Amino acid sequence: MKNIALLGATGSIGEQTLEVIRQHKDKFSVFALAFGTNAGKAIPMIREFEPEAVVTADEETRRKVFEATSHKNIMVGSEGMVAVAKDPGADVFVNAVMGSIGLPATLEAIRARKRIAIANKETLVTAGHLVMAESRKYDTPLLPVDSEHSAIFQALNGERHEDVRRLIITASGGSFRDKTREELQGVNVKDALNHPNWSMGAKITVDSASMMNKGLEVIEAHWLFNMPYDKIHVLLHRESVIHSLVEFQDRSVMAQLGSPDMKVPIQYALSYPERIPLSGSESLELEDLAELHFQKMDMERFRCLKFAFQAGRQGGSMPAVLNAANEQAVAMFLNEQISFLDIEAFVERALTEHNSVSEPSLSDIIEIDKETRKRVERYVK
Ligand code: NDP
Ligand code: MG
Repeated sequence: MKNIALLGATGSIGEQTLEVIRQHKDKFSVFALAFGTNAGKAIPMIREFEPEAVVTADEETRRKVFEATSHKNIMVGSEGMVAVAKDPGADVFVNAVMGSIGLPATLEAIRARKRIAIANKETLVTAGHLVMAESRKYDTPLLPVDSEHSAIFQALNGERHEDVRRLIITASGGSFRDKTREELQGVNVKDALNHPNWSMGAKITVDSASMMNKGLEVIEAHWLFNMPYDKIHVLLHRESVIHSLVEFQDRSVMAQLGSPDMKVPIQYALSYPERIPLSGSESLELEDLAELHFQKMDMERFRCLKFAFQAGRQGGSMPAVLNAANEQAVAMFLNEQISFLDIEAFVERALTEHNSVSEPSLSDIIEIDKETRKRVERYVK
């Protein structure tokens, strides 16, 4: 039996993780549920899964949850997440919160040698050097939940690092893949949230439309698979059937395919190295797919992807600035304070204005993150 601490339980990945656990009650149980402020969603989850610990983002939510459940162990904020990450009662630590808030808890879970299932890409983007150094030091591998990285992980299975020629990450193109830059000027929040292939949280859906999601994934792949940026390629693939590919030195290519369903990579990160049944997920019937399409990425059309490659190559604190500026800008776009194209403009400006720090520490990163968000907020005024 694996006892799971789940960060981001009320989110899109969180709910799908609970669905996987529900299907395999003989294999998985819930040790802790951490979330933000959505008490309405969390309360029935707490009743159903009876976790030993609960973590909320603030006191008010804590009070609401306590009144409804009388749960005896409700903690608050980042310290709460760190406490469940370290607790010997948890075997598996799933980071599915939105944004970089789960970073300190992830580092603690690595040090406590938990199985780490990582959905949260912001953690690796902002602090990949720290996270991977701890992962090596404590011999705690990270199991990817992000579908592209799960695909690469599966394609790499047992292969030698030096035999890899390149990683090819596929991108659906998001809600605006068929729009020109001129057409992007008039788009609104509702349009951005209408993703053609995947149903996900709001922030990542906007990131998919701006292609920042792919940019974050490139940096995530750089860290997870220890691959230089020259060996990471991005390919537009509208159908999201091939989740990513690995080309080897002998030009043999391994791809992982499946219907677009996040429960597949979530479950694999929990069950690895075993493969267990997953009901409710559709088989991929290739004969029903008339065609698969592939297209070269246009870096001027999708400028956020270009910025991510640049920030990744520059290294140091640049990826943390890229991520913080983007998180802040996307939040303002979702609040209808700025336009869609302002997101990339603000990210570009924040990167230009930042003096990179090499090898930033955890406190440097937290400081740079805060400072960047404040700076980007001021761009509106
Ligand atoms: P959602 O927006 O659906 O969910 C985010 C979760 O994080 C919610 O449970 C939310 O709680 C919680 N949260 C937000 N702020 C805080 C906070 N300050 N303290 C504690 N918890 C907080 O996001 P997704 O599930 O879509 O994405 C989660 C992560 O997984 C992201 O990093 C994303 O990039 C990654 N990912 C997601 C994929 C997807 O298909 N959705 C695919 C691949 C990666 P509440 O709502 O209660 O406030
Ligand atoms: Mg992905």
